[in-house]
Amino acid sequence: VSRFEGVSMAPADPILGVSEAFKRDNSDMKLNLGVGAYRTEELQPYVLEVVKKAEKKMLEAGENKEYLPIEGLAAFNKATAELLLGADNPVIKQQRVATVQGLSGTGSLRLGAAFIQRYFPGVKVLISSPTWGNHKNILNDAGVPWSEYRYFDPKTVGLDFEGMIADIKDAPNGSIILLHGCAHNPTGIDPTPEQWEKIADVCQEKDHMPFFDVAYQGFASGSLDDDASSVRRFVARGIELFVAQSYSKNLGLYAERIGAINVVVSSPEVATKVKSQLKRLARPMYSNPPVHGARIVANVVGDPTMFDEWRAEMQAMAGRIKTVRQRLYDELSTKDKSSKDWSFVLKQIGMFSFTGLNKAQSDNMTDKWHVYMTKDGRISLAGLNLAKCAFLADAIIDSFY
Ligand code: PMP
Repeated sequence: VSRFEGVSMAPADPILGVSEAFKRDNSDMKLNLGVGAYRTEELQPYVLEVVKKAEKKMLEAGENKEYLPIEGLAAFNKATAELLLGADNPVIKQQRVATVQGLSGTGSLRLGAAFIQRYFPGVKVLISSPTWGNHKNILNDAGVPWSEYRYFDPKTVGLDFEGMIADIKDAPNGSIILLHGCAHNPTGIDPTPEQWEKIADVCQEKDHMPFFDVAYQGFASGSLDDDASSVRRFVARGIELFVAQSYSKNLGLYAERIGAINVVVSSPEVATKVKSQLKRLARPMYSNPPVHGARIVANVVGDPTMFDEWRAEMQAMAGRIKTVRQRLYDELSTKDKSSKDWSFVLKQIGMFSFTGLNKAQSDNMTDKWHVYMTKDGRISLAGLNLAKCAFLADAIIDSFY
């Protein structure tokens, strides 16, 4: 007998489990639109040229493998806050930002959640319905209570803005509102600038604190500044907030686990204390973060030529996804003989499209067409190429009707 007899089998992860099922499928038709990872037009993983260049430079510099400080690489922390907020943002000059390097977006969210659990015990975090599945896991494991606000309207396949505002207004004063900075996952639907202003109004009225999850800066629109404008809008109003950042998508550093948690607060004194407590939370969890990805980011951002090359590659990635999005829309609207309006595909932003396919229809996509996707109807356009758009449109139309 094993002392582990009582351990039950954990369910497969709803996103990463899709890749496992894909690997087991031997069909030539198979297409993996599950996980949000960028692929080339040949459907191969892509290492950015600028990353290879930075790595070459790092190797030549012969840097050592000593531990980083608990808060991470100083040059990275400076660069990441400046990329997020803009280098000349007054909050940076006034030293009102506590930035700690995290284990990519997930680890940074987790550190933020641990901070909330410790310093704002019992305060509820409101998350969008739907949201990236891991948000719930992160909050649950950190012991942070959460509830949902309305976000997606299946009737319009768009934003339920009234529902969203009503639910945020309804939350107890001083709640924490988790917001996707850009390219909402899984829906691809973002508030407009006017709607962001209204959300900020309600946050101020209700003394709510935003917690931005920024996993796609520069990857959604191709512009680092445009994709951070939601966060900057709130910061400009003097609202205190959390921001988790990730370099998985925009620099293609998925496995390097590089990101950051930033807390923008009202004074430099508070920022110093908050940072000290983030470090205190990090130390017993993982001691200090990995250096490789942090050096890549610091090198790329710190060198004007490499920075420009990065932006060009980011625009190319964002551009390829937009081209595929357009082609998929064209195929859907020509192939579908019903009067269904597919224009929502074009309105969505970022690497995903939320098709509106329900669980049974998503199962049909996989079982009959070998198209692997999450069961909420989300497809990753980053895993699609122009050649497969017609096939995918056939699969979607067949599954819908
Ligand atoms: N937040 C959102 C909304 C995401 O889509 C992702 C990536 N799928 C992340 C955070 C974090 O990813 P990572 O931990 O790889 O940075």
